[in-house]
Amino acid sequence: MFQNRKESPKKNGLPNKKELPKYIIAALIITLVINIVISLISQSNHKQIDYSEFLTMVNNKQVESVEIYSDKLVITPKSDEDASAINKKLYYTGNLDYPQLVDKLYNADVKFTTPVKNTQSPIIGFILSWIIPFAIFYMLGNWFMKSLSNKIGGGGGGFMSVGKSNAKVYVEKTTGVSFKDVAGQEEAKESLKEIVDFLHKPERYTKIGAKLPKGALLVGPPGTGKTLLAKAVAGEAKVPFFSLSGSGFVEMFVGVGASRVRDLFAQAEKQAPCIIFIDEIDAIGKSREGNISGNDEREQTLNQLLAEMDGFDSSKGVVILAATNRPEVLDKALLRPGRFDRRVIVDKPDLKGRENILKVHSKNIIMDESVNLKEIALATAGAVGADLANMVNEAALRAVRMGRDTVRQDDLFEAVETVIAGKEKKDRVMTENEKSLVAFHEVGHALASALQKKTQPVHKITIVPRTMGALGYTMQMPEEEKYLMSKDELLEQIVVLLAGRAAEDLVFNEITTGASNDIERATSIARQMVTMYGMSEKFGMIGLESIQNRYLDGRPVRNCSDEISAEVDREVMNIINESYEKAKNLLKANMEALGKISSHLIFKETIMGDEFMKILNSIQIDEPVNV
Ligand code: ADP
Ligand code: MG
Ligand code: ZN
Repeated sequence: MFQNRKESPKKNGLPNKKELPKYIIAALIITLVINIVISLISQSNHKQIDYSEFLTMVNNKQVESVEIYSDKLVITPKSDEDASAINKKLYYTGNLDYPQLVDKLYNADVKFTTPVKNTQSPIIGFILSWIIPFAIFYMLGNWFMKSLSNKIGGGGGGFMSVGKSNAKVYVEKTTGVSFKDVAGQEEAKESLKEIVDFLHKPERYTKIGAKLPKGALLVGPPGTGKTLLAKAVAGEAKVPFFSLSGSGFVEMFVGVGASRVRDLFAQAEKQAPCIIFIDEIDAIGKSREGNISGNDEREQTLNQLLAEMDGFDSSKGVVILAATNRPEVLDKALLRPGRFDRRVIVDKPDLKGRENILKVHSKNIIMDESVNLKEIALATAGAVGADLANMVNEAALRAVRMGRDTVRQDDLFEAVETVIAGKEKKDRVMTENEKSLVAFHEVGHALASALQKKTQPVHKITIVPRTMGALGYTMQMPEEEKYLMSKDELLEQIVVLLAGRAAEDLVFNEITTGASNDIERATSIARQMVTMYGMSEKFGMIGLESIQNRYLDGRPVRNCSDEISAEVDREVMNIINESYEKAKNLLKANMEALGKISSHLIFKETIMGDEFMKILNSIQIDEPVNV
């Protein structure tokens, strides 16, 4: 498709030139109708009579009052009979040049008056009956359309609407976001810096003959700062920022999305250099193949997008950024060179990144000297920027709740736990029996962790229930960030997970539902070891499963036959059973520690890692028999 894009590139402040006539016409029609209706109503109770008839009425004393105009007389008859004000008929007749009329009326006791001339100049009359109603209806229409498009387009305030496309133009000052606000995404920032530079000085690139990238795709899990980064690019480049969510294009009616895309690009081209940002692009960019039912609207929208991306001239300085957390579902056509050929990975932050994100978000928060953000970063492996921002805020809220005016480290830790496990539920009453069961379960985890070599140290054990379902939990904290896990580490982790149940079993000779989450996690680790990490002797390094939505913690998909799959299950079962035995043996050899620490935990409800280690070290550690 080839489109002529040489329209006059006027930069006017009006929202949308195409939309304008519609408002005007609608407002005009309404004003016209109202004027006609008013004149009809006022005429319907007017009746013309002859001058002679009027004189007869005056003589018969049938006239109440007369208004004398230069060209006519408006006569109000006396209302003797059924005098309802609405039914009252007015009469009018032409004004003859009859000088004695005034005397005659006076004598007949008729009230008469003539309106003061020209109070209402024709211009004022015109304004009153035409311009003002027109303006009112125009504004109403405008407001209505705006509120409608805001509802569709979403988003907050501070930007100017770009008509049909629902795209919002962020002018550089209103994004207020720069690369400084995005922490821990150094690689992503590095690749985007080039785009910023290009938007600043396109000539530098075109001079040497380089073609500029048309688009870059920001890929990563939710909450890692993709949207934020796109805004930061616009902020850094100081160019207008057209931002639009993928779902904002697609409507019920076929063709609407395509016309929005066309509109968006047309608008953007006029404002070049600028950035177009399409958030959640998978909503329109889903692969077209294997889609039997078909979605005409989405397909048309996508086709239009593809055509526009080919059609525009990147040397003018329009860069398209898009964000998604499901790159694998995107249509291949979108990803080919010349379209979104650049991929900027915005992954979960590492230790340093998390610390920096915490720093960025605690910039405006008053913290006392107990705060150690590095420690918080260590405890939050796997958290994304949005989580961390949330944690800092939760900590501040907690400090206020506690009546303090600075945030302390324990506020931050509590916030971490709130985000991970929900709020404390202090009012939930557990029976003594349940309480001790939970305590032994948790200490089982903690002991298994402390008694093995390649596990993470215990940070905290608690049996205060949380809103998200946990009756108690053991928090472990690594001493340093780990990027790789060895087979032994994974196996030990499984033992730790199963040790909760093992403790229940050993001490109470009873098993409960409390271990369900442990079991789920242990099984998933064991399965991954077999199917993805090549860590079982039986299958070696055959990839038996792969993860589908990598950035959305997607489910694994099976790549093997049913037969093999059944064997995989058996292999997983073996790992779990062996680990469970190991956990039991570990605890059996340390029953004294288990008992002592558990009763201490029942008494205190929460103990910290160092306290736990102190009790453990005070008891002589018996090496388990066969580990
Ligand atoms: P995404 O678009 O990737 O889902 P957002 O960009 O909307 O995530 O991030 C949501 C919020 O999380 C941001 O507004 C910001 O407050 C915080 N955030 C996320 N990542 C970062 C980061 N790298 N640095 C600072 N803040 C971040
Ligand atoms: Mg986003
Ligand atoms: Zn458990």
